Amino acid sequence: MSDDLRPTIFALSSGRVPAAIAVIRISGPRAGDALTALGVKTPEPRKAGLARVRDPQSGEIIDEALALWFPGPNSETGEHVAELQLHGGRAVVAATLAALGKIEGLRPAEAGEFTRRAFENGKLDLTAVEGLADLVGAETEAQRRQAFRQMKGALGRRAETWRERLIQALALVEARIDFSDEGDVPEDLVRPALEIARTLAAEIGGALNDGTRGERLREGLVVAIAGPPNAGKSTLLNRIARREAAIVSPYAGTTRDVIEVHLDLDGWPVTLLDTAGIRETDDPVEMEGVRRAQDRAAGADLVLWVEDAGGPQAGEGGPGNTTMVQRGDGVPFRPGGAAGAASAGPGAGQNGPISWRVHNKADLLGHFKRNDFGFITNLNNESVLLSNEPLKNVVNQSLLHNNEPIIENIEHEFIISAGTGEGVDALLRALTDFTAKFLAGTESGLITRERHRLVLSQVYQALTRALSLTGQEDLLAEELRTAAAALGRLTGRVDVEDILDVIFRDFCIGK
Ligand code: GDP
Repeated sequence: MSDDLRPTIFALSSGRVPAAIAVIRISGPRAGDALTALGVKTPEPRKAGLARVRDPQSGEIIDEALALWFPGPNSETGEHVAELQLHGGRAVVAATLAALGKIEGLRPAEAGEFTRRAFENGKLDLTAVEGLADLVGAETEAQRRQAFRQMKGALGRRAETWRERLIQALALVEARIDFSDEGDVPEDLVRPALEIARTLAAEIGGALNDGTRGERLREGLVVAIAGPPNAGKSTLLNRIARREAAIVSPYAGTTRDVIEVHLDLDGWPVTLLDTAGIRETDDPVEMEGVRRAQDRAAGADLVLWVEDAGGPQAGEGGPGNTTMVQRGDGVPFRPGGAAGAASAGPGAGQNGPISWRVHNKADLLGHFKRNDFGFITNLNNESVLLSNEPLKNVVNQSLLHNNEPIIENIEHEFIISAGTGEGVDALLRALTDFTAKFLAGTESGLITRERHRLVLSQVYQALTRALSLTGQEDLLAEELRTAAAALGRLTGRVDVEDILDVIFRDFCIGK
């Protein structure tokens, strides 16, 4: 579309009104005309000017505002951009938006449209657009740093260098193909091309082999609270959620089956799930909920398996509170393995999430202590754990096992009272340490989204195929072309119409 035909867009770009200030942005060929129509004298580029904003039809003054003018192409969108900083009242904003709507060639912006124009005008590549979306969505320090790096081109720049080197390799192979037409075949054109392909395969393979930690940081570590009914799971979640310091968004994404709370633990993001839906049931609808809750728990990075430390004798939980939970299909479920795998107990499944066993309702035990064998006992030296299993790791101590940091499937046991809060601090500290260790180094990860991983896997596979070819220059050139095209899709250089809507869907209006 030619620039003149392109509509000029406008939107409220600042947050919800009423607020102290509201920023309305206008972008497009008519941005300057829009200011004039509002009776605002266009200020010097990038300098604020005080101006009265008027209705273009009645001439009535709407507000006094600061106006800014960024002539294209040196603006955020690459087009002419005007900004009005108004008083952030509902009526002021409504009247100004209505006034802008009366000006010919202007229309309200769609979600993400400013950023989309920045992308289309080459101001941002797609990975930077994604970084920008993540920056706006970042809830913790670590996520903010990761998003900022991505917005500044951490992956985009690297992908561009990879693509340039691929094109170099491709040029060598194509030269060789051309030469062979002329009957004169210099051998050493293909070897350096393969050398480039090999180095690239190693670098891209290295980036892919990161344990998906970049995505992990972006989405937050997932910790599922699971266990038998009435063990105190919801009480524990509420207890943790009530800590002002930790909580980001209480009950975000609440569903019937799974309640989730976003935590900020020393800057690291954690999504805590209460899989309260896990219980014995014959109701088919509820069974579906149970199944979903189990899937979430099985897909978690860590499971807090909450049990009633007092057992039935404690009188709180009632019968069944220490039995295994039945899945809808009657297969016993325990965390620590895939849902439904009849594994021996928390932490037993080697491929499942790591599990910690949390003995709750310590307050009902009276005072408790550990005896010489590591059993938790009451003051009469009677073991109070039904399982009678010795603790493998001492409660309230660090997350070291034989002086090694704990990484996988090693069971910890905690004794807490979600009711009184006793022991919950220690559990949270351990969780913070665990998260920090789990996510350490993830801020520098290149891959932050599934999309990046898919594209880079395609590149890697094409390179691997290319390296397995011998003496088939045509096929080699084809694989290199495939790899270069995939990298082009990563940054949005080529052929990405189909994925744009998906990416820009994450944006809000005015961004
Ligand atoms: P859930 O089914 O596992 O989510 O269990 P709830 O959190 O709903 O708790 C079940 C019952 O146990 C409720 O009556 C709670 O008040 C009680 N409860 C939970 N934690 C404690 C605790 O630490 N001590 C005591 N005494 N009661 C608790």
